[in-house]
Amino acid sequence: MTKTLKSAQDFKNLGITSPEITQNIDTVSTKYAVAMTTELADCVKNPSSDDPVLRQFLPLIDELTTLPEEREDPIGDWPNTPVEGIVHRHKDRVLLKIVSICPVYCRFCFRREMVGPDKDNMLRPEQLDAAIDYIANHPEIWEVILTGGDPMMLSPRRARELTQRLEAIPHVKIIRWHTRMPVAKPDIVTAEYAQAIKSSTKSVFVALHANHANEFSNAAKQACANLIDAGIPMVSQSVLLKGVNDNLDALSDLMRTFVENRIRPYYLHHPDFAPGTSHFRVSVEEGQKLVQGLRNTLSGLCTPTYVVDIPGGVSKAIATPSDAREIDGQLSLRGQDGQWRAYPPSEK
Ligand code: SF4
Repeated sequence: MTKTLKSAQDFKNLGITSPEITQNIDTVSTKYAVAMTTELADCVKNPSSDDPVLRQFLPLIDELTTLPEEREDPIGDWPNTPVEGIVHRHKDRVLLKIVSICPVYCRFCFRREMVGPDKDNMLRPEQLDAAIDYIANHPEIWEVILTGGDPMMLSPRRARELTQRLEAIPHVKIIRWHTRMPVAKPDIVTAEYAQAIKSSTKSVFVALHANHANEFSNAAKQACANLIDAGIPMVSQSVLLKGVNDNLDALSDLMRTFVENRIRPYYLHHPDFAPGTSHFRVSVEEGQKLVQGLRNTLSGLCTPTYVVDIPGGVSKAIATPSDAREIDGQLSLRGQDGQWRAYPPSEK
């Protein structure tokens, strides 16, 4: 493979033979962005929709079916956006969404209506100035979470400039990068890149998004080592996905692979109600059983927190039976405000 896979022909070249699948790829790509890097394509062991790596990036016709409970902004970014690029949902932290492009386009993406090459690729200079001003003018903001899109789409020069601008805000103590780049395009995450995002006074964390152990090529492991050896701690975030990691063996391998690479398992997300993603969804009850299975069998280092975002931007709920259980025959979640809400909600 020599180039990012985007078209039906590219996926055929990878070895997908099913006409049922290939004839729909170009149709789906008119609605949602498609991209799978060669590095991840090289991690595919079985070129079909059953492969746990390929399934994450292979467009399927199911994506064109939107269920009533699915929504364009499933976790409520828009109502919590005071200025372009900022999401201020929780008092002491903000998301800074500086780019809306990614090296790959995950078929289950919860921001799929907001990311892609056809969107505004990055904040314009005046928008970035306004976003930085917003952070500087809110002394309660302790942590800035860089997300998008994938913030490591920034060149090392821009990544360094952004870090320096945040470095200059005294009340910001933590800068957290959320990225898929170490597994999607590991050659980008060099020791030089790690130096570009280091700050002299803030703690910098990188949260790696990976969903299957097969995503960890040797180059991906080296990319993570480049960050960690530069003094940047890493945590993980994964999505529980049907056909990718919804079994105890796959989840155990994934969590152990994180820890073996010095990445602390952090969040296992229940998939959000993004449009056209129902073929990836498992029930919260299944997720609870799987996480209990991890706890019963693995080192405590390997157990992530299983969370579900309450639609509309309320908060996350910890998806343990104490905060996610059936009430009057309906699954309900308790948010950080202590209120119980039906899941999925009956109203959009
Ligand atoms: S890398 Fe993240 S933002 Fe980009 S498509 Fe995947 S899940 Fe969405």
